[in-house]
Amino acid sequence: MNIELPPLLHGLAPDHLADIVGGMGQPGYRAKQLAEWMYRHHAMDWGTMSNLPGTLLTSLAERFDPCGLTLQERQCSQDGTRKYLFELRDGQSIESVMIPMEQHATFCVSSQVGCAMACSFCATARGGLVRQLSRGEIVEQVQLLALDLMADPVEELGDRAFNVVFMGMGEPLDNVDEVAGALKILTHTDGLAMSPRRITISTSGHAEGLRAFLDLRLPVGLTVSVNTTDPDKRKRLMPIPGRTPLSESLDLAEMHARRIRRTVTVAYVVIDGWNDHPDEATALATLVARRPFKVNLIPMNRIDDRFGPPSADALLIFQKVLADHDVRATIRISGGDDIDAACGQLRRRRTS
Ligand code: SAH
Repeated sequence: MNIELPPLLHGLAPDHLADIVGGMGQPGYRAKQLAEWMYRHHAMDWGTMSNLPGTLLTSLAERFDPCGLTLQERQCSQDGTRKYLFELRDGQSIESVMIPMEQHATFCVSSQVGCAMACSFCATARGGLVRQLSRGEIVEQVQLLALDLMADPVEELGDRAFNVVFMGMGEPLDNVDEVAGALKILTHTDGLAMSPRRITISTSGHAEGLRAFLDLRLPVGLTVSVNTTDPDKRKRLMPIPGRTPLSESLDLAEMHARRIRRTVTVAYVVIDGWNDHPDEATALATLVARRPFKVNLIPMNRIDDRFGPPSADALLIFQKVLADHDVRATIRISGGDDIDAACGQLRRRRTS
């Protein structure tokens, strides 16, 4: 199937709306009204944009698609985690996750269909890279989750504010242009008006991606997935990112941290009997200490019988070794254990 699909409405930066609306013979204030529908009210169809003239809506509908994502499945966990499977216009599917935190919700979004990084512990890697997501498909994930949070509020949350983390399917720094385009819309005052401090990009950390990211000088947070400090083991666990020496990735990440004055997170998926030895914690501490970094320990979420979660003891000892070296480390409590909430699992169950 190779039918050209119209571009998504929600991939348009607010700055471009005046030109588009002007080109359709409409006065400038209509662009502002359109932006309000698109990004403040998260309008996903033309019918809701009630104060816009029919002629403008018809012209827009000829050129743009107001929604590219269709909800296929929504799972809610006992602990409040919500997992969404969205179908894209070409029949592909992606996952997004909502995780209620203490004060706010965290939206975990995808940046690609599949992934080319081939990490052996990750469900998304299994089918390789299918295609990039467009900026509109990234922005819509945030909007559809925001709408879901409004329609079905999480009671314990103090407010409806949300953070966005690029920790869903894909390697965001292999899709830098579209991710940057989405970030522009998310942070623009006439877009979703999010503070960049509420946004984090998570990367497997290959040098090309990190360099492209640094060149953009975006003030968003950064997480680097390290997972083991041993170069040979890292190449086996993360074949593509493993080609970049870890010290080089961490130097680039440190440059970003200093530039935006925000701590970089080192993510470490802890795998039973594989990278959970206290010696590995010491090696990690040596690499991380004296850098503006903190560590997030993520117990392995089992996807097959190859890699399993560490014992609670091993995890706590690992954390203590880091603390003894003055390295701050948190343990991520895995949400959504009762649903398919490890990244890529929902899509994999559907497609297999
Ligand atoms: N490609 C990016 C973002 C997507 S993966 C990255 O590598 O950071 C997001 C996070 O989920 C990464 O830290 C990754 O190491 C972790 N992850 C992937 N599969 C996992 C699994 N089965 N269990 C626990 N964490 C996993």
